[in-house]
Amino acid sequence: AEAHVHRSQRLESLGQLAGGVAHDFNNMLGVIVNYASFVIEEASSESPDMSAIVADAQQVVQAGKRGTDLTHQLLAFARREVVRPQVLDLNAAIGEVEEMLRRSLGEHINLIVRPGEELPPVVCDPGQISQVLVNLALNARDAMPGGGDLVIDTGRHGEQVRLRVGDSGTGMSPEVVERAFEPFFTTKGSGAGTGLGLATVYGIITQAGGEVSIASSPGVGTTVTVLLPVSSDLSDSLDKSVTSAPAPAR
Ligand code: ADP
Repeated sequence: AEAHVHRSQRLESLGQLAGGVAHDFNNMLGVIVNYASFVIEEASSESPDMSAIVADAQQVVQAGKRGTDLTHQLLAFARREVVRPQVLDLNAAIGEVEEMLRRSLGEHINLIVRPGEELPPVVCDPGQISQVLVNLALNARDAMPGGGDLVIDTGRHGEQVRLRVGDSGTGMSPEVVERAFEPFFTTKGSGAGTGLGLATVYGIITQAGGEVSIASSPGVGTTVTVLLPVSSDLSDSLDKSVTSAPAPAR
């Protein structure tokens, strides 16, 4: 199958985001209201069936938990405005989360990290870079239920630094690639996915002046490529100030 390359489009409008949230919350509240009414009904009957009451109350708790998860994701999504960008080494940032990733991926996933040599620094919030790595790695894991290789590599790409997260998983159809960055777009059923993982990655990377794209081929795997601008280092800015404001000759 031919690899399908797609550059992410703009994030959907805020209205659509709000619409998606409202829809999801409405579903969860519907479940809560219905099952809570069942609980009341059963509890006020002549001979209340305790196991039925407990089972229904569990539905209420579960829907409430899903709501909490969604709120946390949304807050993380919205909070990306409050960023503390700093000059950082992407390889070091990967090193910071590598052990944590290895543990959360499990033994059936073979995590391979290939740091590019002499990588120039980028400007990004370190917490956000971790979030990008975690979101991409967990998607790769989800795409490889029977195990496989997860390769994280970095390198220079012209005036940009390249980060790639590749997997040997299920891959995506062109239709899924097309919509993958949309907030709340998920193919993971029954509350398993929020559809905010890639939207968050997109938001973080574009805010840092970078780009993100997906190359995926069903049955072969997926590679997400992130490009971040090279931080213009101190010597660069010094050079510029010298050429633009030459020292007065005496
Ligand atoms: P979620 O993981 O909650 O579904 P995302 O925004 O992270 O939300 O991903 C959206 C969808 O893109 C996923 O549901 C899945 O269909 C697809 N996807 C993302 N990453 C991968 C991957 N590495 N391999 C296959 N499909 C993927």
